[in-house]
Amino acid sequence: MIRADRLKGYHDRRRETMGLRARQRYQETWLRALVAHAWRRAPGFRRRVATAGLRPADLRTPGDLARLPVMEKAAMPELQRADPPFGGFSTVRPADLHWIFVSPGPIYEPFARRDGSPWHAEVACFAGGFRPGDTVVNTFLYHLTPAAHLIDRGLARLGCTVVPTGPGNTDIQVKTILDLRATGYVGTPSFLMTLLQHALAKGLGRLPLEVAQVGAEALPHSLRRAFEEQHGILTRQSFGTADLGIVAYECREADGMHVLDDAILEICDPHTGAALPAGETGEIVCTVNHRAYPMVRFGTGDLSVRTEAPCPCGRTSARMLGWRGRADEVTKVRGMFIHPRQADEVVGRCPAVTRYQVVVTRDGHQDVLTLQAELGQGGEATTVVLALVDAMREVMKLRGEVRVVPPGTIPEGAKKIEDRRTWE
Ligand SMILES: [Zn+2]
Repeated sequence: MIRADRLKGYHDRRRETMGLRARQRYQETWLRALVAHAWRRAPGFRRRVATAGLRPADLRTPGDLARLPVMEKAAMPELQRADPPFGGFSTVRPADLHWIFVSPGPIYEPFARRDGSPWHAEVACFAGGFRPGDTVVNTFLYHLTPAAHLIDRGLARLGCTVVPTGPGNTDIQVKTILDLRATGYVGTPSFLMTLLQHALAKGLGRLPLEVAQVGAEALPHSLRRAFEEQHGILTRQSFGTADLGIVAYECREADGMHVLDDAILEICDPHTGAALPAGETGEIVCTVNHRAYPMVRFGTGDLSVRTEAPCPCGRTSARMLGWRGRADEVTKVRGMFIHPRQADEVVGRCPAVTRYQVVVTRDGHQDVLTLQAELGQGGEATTVVLALVDAMREVMKLRGEVRVVPPGTIPEGAKKIEDRRTWE
């Protein structure tokens, strides 16, 4: 049974439930202060703004941000090599840094000694059901990258007690959870399942865990159901990066992730950087209220969709509807982005298909989308073609052709989506 109080309340009611106008005013206020501060103290930011032909006064509202080109995460290693160690984006003196994290790339992320709570993980942890008095095993990695520290800080601010167990050591983890009567878990969903199964297999019985914040890998619906229904563990996730901290988090409804009031989320065309309307898939581009390391219009390379629809939990922010793949893998066809994950979903509806490839070609001024499919034994071509055409229309929102090809036509390891268009 999930404790009722874990599903109620807000970390900061006034902020999380403010109306549209109030949120606009709040975000304009911090954005102006952030831009002015970064212009004065972060030469890398000043270069970006100046190169775009802009001044701080041009970036006063979230709507103005569209004038500044997106800074892609993939460009960070190069930017930091050119102006080491932080690309000119840190606003504090080296002696005022508490941590420097090292993410793959490498990308170095500074964290200032006196910077309050720029990661905002406490908001996500509260919404995910953590409450003061919880004892929490944090199984994220405590070295190099910031994930473990980020959640650690948030939990400490909520009044939880953290046991920094780090990853691995299943036996020790299970004993620690039992000895300390730990009620909370932080880490990957697969490791949580490993711990639960290990305790049962060793005859140690049920673990006292009641709440979990999971991340770093996908959380399938079936796994969340198992945690909640079989083990009574309220399981929620959030979205963030090493550069930005937490950006969005799930509430009790677990229907998309609420965007933090200290983050401005845009969903953008991955090719042009233009902001897209709610409901369209595009790249997650964020601006976060982090004074020491102001990331403004930072392109994460991840895809999602935004919704403005109200949430029954009472929080009024927009929500990000799940992860939809990587931006560098998308192909735009007749104005719609398609992603290998969508192609997998289409083909997943027809078990008879053993191998497939989506090919994009051009006929005059028209994009043509063709799904080539190889069928296994007993696969009936006509039925499969009809089912795949329907599935493409439903999943990709595109009309496409389906061609059944003889086994062996599609080479092993072929790209799931091959773009054969030429643009002369
Ligand atoms: Zn909600």
